[in-house]
Amino acid sequence: MSREDETICSRGGWAEDFTTRSSNPPLYQTTAFDLHGIEQLDAVTDHSERGYIYTRDGNPNHAAFASDVADLEHAEAGAVCASGMGACSAILLSHLRSGDHILAARVLYGRSSQLLSELERCFGIEVTFADASDIESMSAAVRDNTKLCLIESVSNPLLEVVDLPRLVEAMGEVPVVVDNTFATPCLFRPLEHGAKLVFHSASKYLNGHGDVMLGVVAGSQASVTCVRRVASLFGLNANPFECWLGSRGLRTLPLRMQRVSENAIKVAEFLAGHSAVSRVYHPSLPDHPNHELAQRLLPDGTGGMLSFELQSGEAGIRPLFRALAETIPFSPTLADTRTTISWPAGTSHKYVNVDERRSWGITDGLARLSVGIDSADDVIAELDAALRTL
Ligand SMILES: *Cc1c(COP(=O)(O)O)cnc(C)c1O
Repeated sequence: MSREDETICSRGGWAEDFTTRSSNPPLYQTTAFDLHGIEQLDAVTDHSERGYIYTRDGNPNHAAFASDVADLEHAEAGAVCASGMGACSAILLSHLRSGDHILAARVLYGRSSQLLSELERCFGIEVTFADASDIESMSAAVRDNTKLCLIESVSNPLLEVVDLPRLVEAMGEVPVVVDNTFATPCLFRPLEHGAKLVFHSASKYLNGHGDVMLGVVAGSQASVTCVRRVASLFGLNANPFECWLGSRGLRTLPLRMQRVSENAIKVAEFLAGHSAVSRVYHPSLPDHPNHELAQRLLPDGTGGMLSFELQSGEAGIRPLFRALAETIPFSPTLADTRTTISWPAGTSHKYVNVDERRSWGITDGLARLSVGIDSADDVIAELDAALRTL
């Protein structure tokens, strides 16, 4: 039957059905899924038939990425969100009511702390920030209405490692939620140590190529179902293409985590011996406060993130970043394939109270490196050249 141009164009884009299978996962870049009829709608809605209806509620690219991350985390189920902050929001909104109390580590990703303060200011959630490395002070902060405890397995930017088994025990009935972005399940699986839910900024290591905004939550089927429902209602859903890219990035995750861990040890040891550097924070170094704990909990590597303080303090930061601009770029993210540098005081922790931040060790002269999969020898030579100009 011949068709008008408008019909050809408006219904276009389809190849004829074929019988071989795509060697790589197709991208389901679609808002919705066509249904054979009302009977199929009923069957998909009551789960007697596997299908998708509307991408905000589910899409095969979401499912592929979420289930792979759930498998890596040894979780029953996973759910994707538009970003790490989306994942964090979906957990908080699905597990807290106004009047509830949340206990959180005092050093968190800056935006996570800001989100908690916002929930306190606008939505009647009570928040206490405590030192997650001091289990007694965490226990002391638990109240009758404490509904969640939120921590990072390896913290930003001082690479503090939380003694999760002890924390979980001390929290008793209070579920512990872990931001596992820095460690990834290749180095640490919080659920195996008793955490209830784990989430990631998949914009970082899980994707690992610096070209995606994506978040993911993993945990029990029941918890993840609540998270997914809230994510859909609040519109925190991920984009299929981001999930497709995330799945591609995930294929090399174990290789990348092994390599960045090895590279970061070399770079940390180099910086620790440099006269322009007064202090280096990496859990592989014997002088790191959590060195032994990290060896016990993360025996396969401690990751690619490290921070260092300049002998010259803040005065050295601008010249250092300028000297590195052509080799190790200033990029306010992390976990790219290439090594990048950032300045926590002016980026991730810009909105944290200045005196508090300094008292924790996040000083104005602290630089944070995300060591990539590039050659450690090159990175060391480039850092050396730049540090010599200070
Ligand atoms: C980046 C980051 C987040 C936020 O994730 P987005 O994907 O940027 O929304 C949360 N936690 C940690 C530790 C991060 O590094």
